Amino acid sequence: MAQGLTGSNRSLWINTAQRNPTKALEKSAEADVCIVGAGIAGMSAAYQLAREGKSVIVLEKGALDSGEAPFTSAHLSNVLDTGYKKIAQMHGEDGARNAAESHATAISEIETIAAREGIDCEFKRTAGYLFMAEDDSADSLEEEFEASRTAGLAVEWSAPPIQATGECLRFPGQAQFHPVKFLAGLDVASQTLGAKLYSHTELDAWINRRNVAPRSGLRKGKSVGRAV
Ligand SMILES: Cc1cc2nc3c(=O)[nH]c(=O)nc-3n(C[C@H](O)[C@H](O)[C@H](O)COP(=O)(O)OP(=O)(O)OC[C@H]3O[C@@H](n4cnc5c(N)ncnc54)[C@H](O)[C@@H]3O)c2cc1C
Repeated sequence: MAQGLTGSNRSLWINTAQRNPTKALEKSAEADVCIVGAGIAGMSAAYQLAREGKSVIVLEKGALDSGEAPFTSAHLSNVLDTGYKKIAQMHGEDGARNAAESHATAISEIETIAAREGIDCEFKRTAGYLFMAEDDSADSLEEEFEASRTAGLAVEWSAPPIQATGECLRFPGQAQFHPVKFLAGLDVASQTLGAKLYSHTELDAWINRRNVAPRSGLRKGKSVGRAV
């Protein structure tokens, strides 16, 4: 069984997906963009850049699935943990709307990529539910309902889908997927587009924004993107 971030957890996702063969970077290489970290952020950036015709190298210090992605609950949601009441207080109503929209777009992008590349990652649209915690004030859910609506989310009051106290908020149009299957598919799609992924290759130092330490073997790049 695959070990978790702390070494004590195990990943269901790793244990139910095939791993693509990967290799370490063994000699100097050049690319338009070097991405550090082959998690979902790094691999998504690599795929998009390769689609734009850039030459891309991804350096990953571990295996393809050694970051946080294999340990996610795999909910793709624009109902953010911070809560829209707090987000609006911190960033204003426009900021809250931007947060909701950008996360909705990210979910749709995963759906689009999976369909375009034929990635069988069990992507499924589903509803998300928000319940009151024991120490929440009685009107906190009402406030979150209003703040979510103002941020542009589709939200409705609902009976709880599981045994729980009181009404909850239901957010349709959220999603779930198998993160490691998606990452493996993204890896294949990116490499088909010419991107190169090197596992077990740690970037040990930044020389400047254009050059990275020689130990990594990557001599020169026009830009370096960090996704760690
Ligand atoms: C228990 C748990 C549940 C979660 N549930 C959810 C959820 O339901 N929904 C949700 O959206 N999010 C959830 N998350 C958060 C989500 O998993 C992370 O936000 C996401 O996986 C981060 O992806 P990433 O690509 O940014 O980082 P990572 O997946 O961590 O990728 C970074 C990669 O960079 C590599 N790296 C680091 N330093 C270097 C270096 N110097 N050289 C080369 N490589 C390097 C690492 O090895 C790693 O593979 C959860 C997280 C946890 C732990």
